[in-house]
Amino acid sequence: MTLVVNNLTVAYGDVHALTNVSLSVERGEVCALMGRSGSGKSSLLRAAAGIVPMSSGTIRIGNRDISTLPIHERRIGLMFQSYALFPHLNVAENISFGISKDSGRDHRVSELLEMVDLTGFEERSVADLSGGEQQRVALARTLAPSPDVLFLDEPLGSLDTALRQALLADMGAIFATMDIPVIYVTHDPDEAFAIADSITVLDNGAVDAQGPPSSLWIAPPTVTTALLLDRESVVDAADLPAPVRGTRTGTVLVPTEAVQLAEAESRNVINATVRHVVFAGLTSRATVQCGNATLTLDTTANLSRDQRIDLIIDSTAVISLTNQRVLPS
Ligand code: ADP
Ligand code: MG
Repeated sequence: MTLVVNNLTVAYGDVHALTNVSLSVERGEVCALMGRSGSGKSSLLRAAAGIVPMSSGTIRIGNRDISTLPIHERRIGLMFQSYALFPHLNVAENISFGISKDSGRDHRVSELLEMVDLTGFEERSVADLSGGEQQRVALARTLAPSPDVLFLDEPLGSLDTALRQALLADMGAIFATMDIPVIYVTHDPDEAFAIADSITVLDNGAVDAQGPPSSLWIAPPTVTTALLLDRESVVDAADLPAPVRGTRTGTVLVPTEAVQLAEAESRNVINATVRHVVFAGLTSRATVQCGNATLTLDTTANLSRDQRIDLIIDSTAVISLTNQRVLPS
């Protein structure tokens, strides 16, 4: 069953949180919902889940229009960054809180605990669990009523990097077994790339860009998306040397892979000065001044600050970025 959000508009009094946002997520697909703080990510989840009212638009799951249903009839599982577990209940009680008290309940709890890799944790007090374990319990509780759709709002935001990566891999494996649409809110591109089949970027309450992660990374259409995905070398075309700039105006992306150190026999070299070098394992990442623009160069060469270097820049790889949003039709 596909989740379809169509022309969703949400306002809090005079504050317009979302304007005509549309997206669709197929079953088995993970959509990363990205955007700066305040761009409307949580509002989209809350409105689709029925927690905040929509001003207009529709939410459909398969052929069911759930736009006007009360929260509990929408069959959407929603998980937040804060675990929101009940501290006085044990793990099994937390997980089974939202499911009916029938004979299958204990079996369902152990099935869910196995899914989140916490087999045997039924009687444990949630207060004694680590942050990662608490988040697994929260995921199991969200999945307990077998929702038709899963929403996660920056679920790993409060965990440290190592734990986040481990849990992220586990979540990816869990999502792969579920076969329902998943929307995963994050502002971290690495997290999105690790888990998502598609990305929707919100900016100022509207869709800024939508597409597969690789397409958006290789050719981000807008400045917002380029910056959000951590693309380096987003510069003003006017600051680039003329041969690199070509006929472009406005803001452009000079992809790092298009910038290379010239070799002895290279022609059409571009002069640059090294400003800063950061060791990054196999290659070093250098910040170089080229014309009036600051570009990024990944290289195995040993460069030092203030060194004058010659670059080869593939000007055909330079991408024009628009400041304008791609407005949904
Ligand atoms: P995000 O999750 O992307 O950070 P939100 O959806 O939380 O963004 O917020 C979008 C906009 O709506 C922001 O301008 C925010 O200040 C505003 N907003 C969010 N919740 C409320 C609320 N309960 N009352 C008024 N304004 C709100
Ligand atoms: Mg939010």
